[in-house]
Amino acid sequence: MHQGDLSPGALDGATSVAIDSETLGLKLGRDPLCVVQLKGPEGDTHLVQLDRSSYDAPRLKRLLTDPNTLKIFHFGRFDIAMFLVHLGVMTAPVYCTKIASKLARTYTDRHGLRDVTRELIGVDLSKAQQSSDWGAAVLSPEQVAYAASDVTHLHALRERLDAMLVREGRMALAQACFDFLPHRAALDVAGWEEADIFAHA
Ligand code: MN
Repeated sequence: MHQGDLSPGALDGATSVAIDSETLGLKLGRDPLCVVQLKGPEGDTHLVQLDRSSYDAPRLKRLLTDPNTLKIFHFGRFDIAMFLVHLGVMTAPVYCTKIASKLARTYTDRHGLRDVTRELIGVDLSKAQQSSDWGAAVLSPEQVAYAASDVTHLHALRERLDAMLVREGRMALAQACFDFLPHRAALDVAGWEEADIFAHA
């Protein structure tokens, strides 16, 4: 657990980082960003408890915008929008296991992190702390464990989903979606959250 920013040197040289965040609620423009969880392909999971008075976190911001580090999310659209609002950075490049799942697993409509992890990794993730108070000054051991568990399997999920996407000839389409995702998040922040600008009406 780091207060305010990533610890110096953490995740230096990682070419991909699994990432998630916890907020006080789900509304952009209302709810503060509280915690960011990060994990490289191997090694420790890093939890950053942000200073909500300044959001001064230069090492975290550098990682989010590093063109040589792929950020792997599950439903990155929300986290990326939150990072844009509170940290003022456009996160890229990104991968989203939810988008990959929707393109690869067309035999189901269950694309939640718990559903995808259960099927592809065989692990049952707990949901118990999902709706807890992430704005608390001191997080409980249960919150810390829950926050960390949300990034534990993202690298393995990406591997499984990539194999399925390649098998089905959908990798290029998935990559195009990942490339667009930061811009989709920027549209959310700019006021086009509900509108589908690709729709006819
Ligand atoms: Mn989470």
